[in-house]
Formats: sequence, C-alpha cells, structure tokens
Amino acid sequence: MSSPTATRDAAEDPGPHADPRIAEVLSRWWGFDTLRPLQADAIAAALAGRDSLVVMPTGGGKSLCYQVPPLVGETTDVVVSPLVALMKDQVDALEAIGYPAAALHGGMSPEERAAVRDRLAAGELRLLFTAPERLVNTGLLDLLARVGVKRFAIDEAHCISQWGHDFRPEYRQLALLRDRFPAASIHAFTATATPRVRDDIARQLALRSPATLIGTFDRPNLVYRVVPRADRVAQVLKILGRHRGEASIVYCISRKETERLAARLAAEGLLARPYHAGLDARERHATQEAFASETIDVVVATVAFGMGIDRSDVRLVLHTSLPKSLEAYQQETGRAGRDGLAAECVLLYSSADVFSWESLVRKSAAESELDAAEQEKLCAAQAEHLHAMRRYAQAARCRHAALSEYFGQAYPAASCGACDVCLGETNSLPDATVTAQKILSCVARVGERFGVRHVCEVLRGAKTEGVLRHGHDRLSTFGLLVNLEQRTAENLVHQLLDQGLLARTPGDRPVVTLNDKSWEVLRGTREVVLLEPRAGKARTTQADADDWEGVDRDLFERLRKWRRRVAEARGKPAWTILDDKALRAIARQKPASPAALLRCKGIGEKRLADFGTAILDLVVGKEAEP
Ligand code: ADP
Ligand code: ZN
Repeated sequence: MSSPTATRDAAEDPGPHADPRIAEVLSRWWGFDTLRPLQADAIAAALAGRDSLVVMPTGGGKSLCYQVPPLVGETTDVVVSPLVALMKDQVDALEAIGYPAAALHGGMSPEERAAVRDRLAAGELRLLFTAPERLVNTGLLDLLARVGVKRFAIDEAHCISQWGHDFRPEYRQLALLRDRFPAASIHAFTATATPRVRDDIARQLALRSPATLIGTFDRPNLVYRVVPRADRVAQVLKILGRHRGEASIVYCISRKETERLAARLAAEGLLARPYHAGLDARERHATQEAFASETIDVVVATVAFGMGIDRSDVRLVLHTSLPKSLEAYQQETGRAGRDGLAAECVLLYSSADVFSWESLVRKSAAESELDAAEQEKLCAAQAEHLHAMRRYAQAARCRHAALSEYFGQAYPAASCGACDVCLGETNSLPDATVTAQKILSCVARVGERFGVRHVCEVLRGAKTEGVLRHGHDRLSTFGLLVNLEQRTAENLVHQLLDQGLLARTPGDRPVVTLNDKSWEVLRGTREVVLLEPRAGKARTTQADADDWEGVDRDLFERLRKWRRRVAEARGKPAWTILDDKALRAIARQKPASPAALLRCKGIGEKRLADFGTAILDLVVGKEAEP
C-alpha cells in the first residue's frame, strides 16, 4: 500500500471537475457548487475504476464520494454499512432529493425486500445499501453479478480490522468480493486513521494499488473547551444554556448518570432524554427518532449513542467525564457541526475520572479470559491512551494543535481562535501557591492516610462524622479553606495530582500522599499554577459570528418550525428535509423567486419542486403549509 500521507497522483489525477457531468450532478441533485478537494479525488478514482482508501474525519463528506459516481456513470453501486440505522438515515436523506437508493436489511419484511430486489433487477437503483452478512449469505451476490455491479463502497471500513476501535468479525467476509467480482473496484471509507489500521484494511480487502486519500483531521468549525469539573449539574445547565433549542449531546460514563442527569435537565424544562445500551430497543429507538425529528434537543447518553446519528446540526457535544482515549474523543466530538457550521465541544475534566478508568480497565482485564501477561499488555495499552487523553485535558495549549498533532498532522497556525486556550478563557487562580501549600500541609497533618474527600472536608472545616471521629477538627489545618465548596476544593486537589505535585496510592480506596515535589512547594521553592475551577466566560468565536452573518434569526426560526412540521408529517429526520446550512442561506439571502432560491446552497431541483412555494411564502412572512 502507498504512503499514509495524502497522495494526489499528478499523472493520474484529472483534477477536480474534469468531468463536466460531476458539476451538473452536484448542482442538480444537491444544490452544491463545488466538491471538496478530497471528494474530487475520491470521485475521480471511483469513475476511473481504481480502488481507493479514503480516510476522512467525521463531517468530511464521505457519503458524496460514493453517491456521485453512480449518477454520473448511470451504474448500480453497492454500499456496505455496519448498522441498519446508518443505512436508513442515508436512504431517507437520498430519497429527500429524489435519488434512487434503497437498503436491504433484516429489519424489513420479505415483501419489502422482494420489492427492492425487483427494483435492483430492473436496473432502477443507483445505490444499494446492505450489511456485510446479508451481502455474502444470500443469493444477493448472484443478483448483483447479473445486474453487473462494478463498484463496492465499504463504509466504516475500520470495522474489518482487529486493530481498529470497532472490530466486527462479519466484515472479514468482505474479502470474498475481490474474487467474486474481479472486474469491480473496491472503495474503503473510514474516519479512523492509524497507519496500522489503514494497512490492515487494504490487505483484508485485497485492494489493488489503491488511491490513498487522507483528509485533514482538524475540524476548524469546532470550538474546544476543557473546563475543570466542579459542580457537574450546574456546569451542564450553564453550558446548555448557550444552546437553547439547539441539538446537543451530553456524554456520561455510566448508565445511571445518564438517567439522573436527563431527569434533572427535564426538570429544568429542557427537552432531554437518556440513552444507553441498557434501555430496551424500543425506547432507544424512540429516543433516536425524537432527536432526529427535533422533538427533543438533548440526548444524555453513554458512548453507545452515536453511530447512526447523522443529524448534521448538532451544536454542542458535552462530555461530563473524561473519554478513555483521544480517538474516542475525536469520534464523539466529530458528531458536532457536521454541517460545517460552528459548534462547541466541552469537556468537563477531573482527574478523578482517570482513576475510575484505571480501575475499570484492571477489572475488565481481570474478568477476561486473557492470561496474566496479555492482561498486562492490555492494561498498559489502555493506560497509554488514557494518559494521552489526560495530557490533552491538562495542557494549557491550543486544543486544535494538540488534536491534530496526536493524529500525526502538524497544525499550521500559532493560534486557532477557536479553543479556550487561544481565546484566553482559562483563568488562573490568584494565590495558587499559598492554596497549594494549605492543601499539602493538610495532607501531611492527616498522616497521608486519607482520600481526597476527607482532606477537603478538613480544609473546609466540615464537621462530618469522619472528621470528628478522627479528631481532625482539632488539626491546625481544619477550616483553612473555609470559603470553598467541597467540589471546588476537590477540583484543586485533583489539579495538584495531575501536575504531579501530590501522589495517590493505587487501589479501590486511594489515599493522597506527598512526594518530593510536594515538599518543594511546602518549602516555598516551587511556584504553583492552578486554574480557576469556574471557567471564564465563553467568548463568541469568529466562525460562529461568520455563520450568522446577515442571517435573519426570526426567519431562521420560522423555517426551523416549518421544517419540524414537514419532518413530522413525513416521518423523516428533520435534517434530511433541509439542513441548517441551507436554512441559514435562505434566511440570509431571502430569495424572492424560484431562481433565487435555487442559488441558495443546499437547494437542488427536487427540493425546489417539493418546498419552493412553502419556503418563498415563509420568506415573505406568510404561513406555509407543511
Ligand atoms: P461524513 O460521512 O464524512 O461524516 P457527510 O457525508 O455526512 O460526512 O457530510 C457532512 C456534511 O457536509 C453534510 O451536511 C453534507 O451535506 C455536507 N457536504 C458534503 N460535501 C459537500 C460539498 N461538496 N459542498 C457542500 N456541502 C457538502
Ligand atoms: Zn487554539
């Protein structure tokens, strides 16, 4: 396989839009006027029948890469996808623009499946979506051969690799495609990018000198913030307050937390629901649908929520706990702002989460069937991921740069203008060294035999049962930080732990202890910098201001309401009707004629025919029929 960097092979690359039919198809069906550079390369490879491996971060626009070629060449292509929900979303979105696409999956009745096979046999379909096991286990292969399928797109191709983060054994069967369809080209798509996984995909699918196209990992429209966690609920409410009425995903580690927090948010009047793998399938489905159709704004979820959520206008992804790797963080935050408009990603950080993860990892390794040496290896690998995540959260440096570099790409700018660090939002605590000295001497006074909570109770002067039982209300450090809330105090202790200025014993009941650096602080030979546990005010980013530039907010809201009604009437996800970017374009340009409406990005011929009158009515302030 070729080098892991983007290969734009000058000799073979006909350049974007070499084929005039591409531009025509784009504007006619999607209302788009240009392809992104990597899309142009991927589509050129597909049209040339050359295998490809396309690595594009979430939101990069992978789907267009396999949706455009069959329209241009009038072929029937096959897309392999791991999840029914993903297929359904895509087919819905394609049907909304009149694109002849269908899916074959186990959730359909035999009659429905027969109807799709008929359309396939009649050559009516441009795209057929199916799952790997269905593709290889039925007479489907014969039918595809009869129809003369020449192209296979493998979505979420990392699922074929054991080294990927989401291995699915059934993907291995796709290896037979090369033998069964020697003349067809195979195109692998994924958002994860380690070189090892890329090589594995190419080998397993037996790709023939594939065009290797690797996108930029940076997502400039996302603003990243890391906020020291103090009062979780209050912080979540405050951050959600910046996104009233907008789509938000709030991630928690445990199922219980999702339910508790969702109930709290609902009690505050937010349209929020929990989501986790422990809920029954019907309930999970109902929540997904409600989110897709915009009847709820907030999903409070474990990481089980995500794959298959194609809603492109998610404006906030909020992690209330530390994810276990930067890969996971990149993927989960990747669900924000897929429409390219500004969106926010906030991580509430406490190093307490690192300890929880570590003990979880040890527990699950111990419960596995691995031998001791393999368990060790597993724990070590996980610990490395965890520490990369933790370094990201702690470092007072540009988040965009840190993420890009982790994924092997240098970040070009000195300041991104879209993270808490570059925006100057992080505040340092005044008198941090003195505060640290108070904390450390309290750790010494309790004999280095107590946990974070107890130390903080003593510092705050709390007469809890534990404090009184040990006579710690008589210590000189009792009440030294009487003005702090418990959570704030604990946050400061965790910052000291993060910086290695304090140590903590392993195990289930960890106690905090002093180390060499602690003594340097106590002796006054080391200065300490601590962040203010309450974050500074979030500023507006340039990207956000640009996205709203000239947009009539009232009209935008009216358009959204109308879209919701249309979505409900049709039983389709709202964003498949029209995404936020298109709505903002309309609310900015206020088109007065069908021709002017066509000039709005996102409006193609089909949408003009379906919604033209309604939209033009809304623009002039009339009520529109759904
Ligand atoms: P991915 O599958 O890589 O996560 P999608 O295919 O869902 O990304 O595309 C992300 C968003 O970008 C969608 O809202 C899509 O409509 C938009 N998009 C993709 N390509 C273009 C383009 N060439 N011009 C304008 N918008 C585009
Ligand atoms: Zn930055």
